[in-house]
Amino acid sequence: LSKDGRERSLLLQLTPYGLGQFLIVTRDVTQVEMLETTRKDFVANVSHELRTPLTVLLGFLETLQDMPAESLPLEQRQRYEQMMLEQTRHMQSIVSDLLTLSTLESSPTVEGETVQVSQLIESALKQGEAISGGQHSFVTDIDPRIAIQGMETELSSAVSNLITNAVRYTPKDGTITVRWYLNDSGEACYSVQDTGIGIAAQDIPRLTERFYRVDKGRSRSTGGTGLGLAITKHIIVRHNAELQIQSRLGVGSVFMLRFPKSRVRLQDC
Ligand code: ADP
Repeated sequence: LSKDGRERSLLLQLTPYGLGQFLIVTRDVTQVEMLETTRKDFVANVSHELRTPLTVLLGFLETLQDMPAESLPLEQRQRYEQMMLEQTRHMQSIVSDLLTLSTLESSPTVEGETVQVSQLIESALKQGEAISGGQHSFVTDIDPRIAIQGMETELSSAVSNLITNAVRYTPKDGTITVRWYLNDSGEACYSVQDTGIGIAAQDIPRLTERFYRVDKGRSRSTGGTGLGLAITKHIIVRHNAELQIQSRLGVGSVFMLRFPKSRVRLQDC
């Protein structure tokens, strides 16, 4: 145990040291073990996430193979094909999100160019409205003058991820409020507030872990990969920004991205 009471792993090595003498070398391998556990968890998670759609896919393909073509009504065949297509697309999203994550991890910060974030928000809102299918109300307050020095593709992905999540985790008739403004310190803030299912306090710090979902069944049925917030967090860190999450179970959540003043570029409109 270390002074703060936390368990540490020590590696003791006995090395011959002169005649009949030995040297005991102690190495603290806690960090190495933690990294190894994270790596193993990650491999286990990826395998599990891919195995589920693969099992469904295999099941349908075997059924199709075992059934004589004439005994399978066209409608049923089309339903099977649709399900297989969905599972294949889901696997494709997982692989593509994993590739995005590994690219993002390869460099800590990004310079980029001036990005008109308000335009990215507008198109993310259109996408969100399409997913919502008219079931939610959208309220917006967006300052078009605020631009950010950064990578457009990354900012676009972070901006739309928060809107997509708000739609996914807000029941019918809920309201989603999207704001883009400068706060009193001159930082650019993007906030997405929903009146959705909310998140328990103990889950909030874990949301940006890869594949972490509060309710696994519910999240999978929404079509997400469980990697969206992990990707968002990486993008935000690369832009020297911060992700803040406030939520109350059954009341709703606010996800906020805060960009430092040094990244803000004010434009004349
Ligand atoms: P997913 O693809 O599962 O949505 P994310 O990384 O985007 O993956 O989100 C991780 C988890 O965080 C979700 O599975 C969900 O449990 C929770 N979550 C994200 N956004 C919200 C929200 N607006 N309201 C409630 N829960 C949310």
